[in-house]
Amino acid sequence: MPAVIEYPDKGEDTMELIRIPRIMQDTCRKHLQKGRSIGFVPTMGALHDGHLSLIRRAKSENDIVVASIFVNPLQFGPSEDFASYPRVIDEDTIKLRELGIDVIFIPDNSLMYPPGFSTYIDAGPVSEKLCGQFRPGHFRGVATVVAKLLNLISPTRAYFGRKDFQQTVVIRRMTRDLDINTEIVVCPTIREEDGLAMSSRNRYLSAGERAAATVLFRAMSTVSDGLQAGGTSISELKKNLISEISKEGLITSIDYASIYNPETLEEIKESGQLKEVLVAVAVRMGKTRLIDNLIVNLT
Ligand code: AMP
Repeated sequence: MPAVIEYPDKGEDTMELIRIPRIMQDTCRKHLQKGRSIGFVPTMGALHDGHLSLIRRAKSENDIVVASIFVNPLQFGPSEDFASYPRVIDEDTIKLRELGIDVIFIPDNSLMYPPGFSTYIDAGPVSEKLCGQFRPGHFRGVATVVAKLLNLISPTRAYFGRKDFQQTVVIRRMTRDLDINTEIVVCPTIREEDGLAMSSRNRYLSAGERAAATVLFRAMSTVSDGLQAGGTSISELKKNLISEISKEGLITSIDYASIYNPETLEEIKESGQLKEVLVAVAVRMGKTRLIDNLIVNLT
């Protein structure tokens, strides 16, 4: 007699869409009680292949996959793009259904942050470097929402993209410090063919800006090659990075572009004993802010 496969071979189109946090929590608890592992991919939607790569990885490593779509107001500053952030829930739902995930969680703001909500998570110094200097409160918003989502879902593993490198450092710090029992899995950055890191915000770029944005990956790759070849000082490489990016006229300003210790996010003057360094950039092109990074192996 063939074995009865109760799960996850559950036929097509059984994706659940949940909007209520308490129901999300109950659903996940039931899966966990049955001994199923849960892989969780938090997103803000407008899904592209970068997001889908995390979901595929989660599928390959877990019995159940949950993705969330939530444009988290806490992580946007007052002059940032919360209102205009792309919201394409129907398109996203189709993509997630095609991938065969089990649950999409699309909570309302009012249920995530009901009246009286007043508890926030601050992951300390790693939140204040790099993007933290230009987006005050951003990582406090990220850490708070991720903690809430991890508490609602209790995933075995949660998947984040290296594209948002500092975010992965903040989340790892938070889960360690608060004893959150979820493995944090960091996945490679998915790029367009010309090197531009995929991002929901790339939708904001005009055709000219889109073409110009490739300078980021080119300039970082030059630094990466220089680091690996040796012979050029870190300060020289930093200068070259900034000057190559500045040559692109459509870049309005550079928030930062430099070389960092990937653990502490401190800018470095020399690589010393480090096995890896982080090359990271954040620029503005008109009203769009773009970030990207490379981890360079020095061994
Ligand atoms: P977001 O919707 O921008 O909040 O991103 C949700 C998750 O997808 C985060 O963990 C991001 O780091 C990840 N992500 C975004 N863009 C990429 C990319 N190009 N490659 C890999 N992961 C990505």
